[in-house]
Amino acid sequence: MVSLLDILFPPICLNCRTYLNGLEEKENLLCDICFTGIKVYSNIFRPDPRFNLIALGSYETSALRELLHYFKYNGFLAARAPLEKLMMRWLSTNSSLVSHFLPPRSLLVPIPLHRSRLRARGFNQAELIAEVLSQLFQLPVEKALLERTRDTKPQIGMKNAKEREENVKNSITVRERPGWPQHQNVILVDDVYTSGSTMKEAMRALRRSGAKNISAFVIAKT
Ligand SMILES: [Zn+2]
Repeated sequence: MVSLLDILFPPICLNCRTYLNGLEEKENLLCDICFTGIKVYSNIFRPDPRFNLIALGSYETSALRELLHYFKYNGFLAARAPLEKLMMRWLSTNSSLVSHFLPPRSLLVPIPLHRSRLRARGFNQAELIAEVLSQLFQLPVEKALLERTRDTKPQIGMKNAKEREENVKNSITVRERPGWPQHQNVILVDDVYTSGSTMKEAMRALRRSGAKNISAFVIAKT
C-alpha cells in the first residue's frame, strides 16, 4: 500500500539519493547499486600483534558510512536488515576464517557507553551489533562486563594518537565478577574502528582481569 507520506516524501537512497522501490527501502535503505557496491573485506587485520580485528568493510565506503550514521542517530530497527545482510555477505566470503577467529566458546563484549551518553542516545549501538552477532554465531553476549567510568570527549577531530590515548586512558574498567573473564575468548564489539585507542583501553582492562584471547569485531574500519 502506498501511503500519503510516501507520495509526499518518497523514500530515497541514503547514499545517492535516487528513489527507492519498496523492497530496497524495506531491506537495504540503499538502492541496489549502492548496496551491492559495498565491498566486504576478505582478510583479518592485526593492528597490534596481540589481537585480530574483523571489520566488515571500509568506513571510506560512503554507502556503508551512511548506513552506520543512520543506525547511530535514527535507531537500530530499520538499519538492522541491511547490517545483517552485510554480516552474511562477510560470512560467505570468509567462511574458512570464521571458526578460527570466532571460536565457539567466545564471549561477545560490546564497548560500553558512558551512562550520560547512553541516556542521551537511548541505546548503545555496540550492544545491538553484539546481539545480531550473538544470534548469527550462537555466542553469548556479556553486556555488563565492561563499564565506562569516565565520559570522554569524542575521538573524532583528534588528529593525533597520543591525544586520543590520553583522552580514553583509564576510562574503561571490568566490573568485579569472580571468575570472569578468565579462560574466556573475548570478542570486543563496536560499530567503527578508528585509531583503536578505545578498543586498546578495553583490552587493557580485560587483560588485567585475566582474559586470555581477545579479538575485535567492527562494522567498519577507517
Ligand atoms: Zn544509491
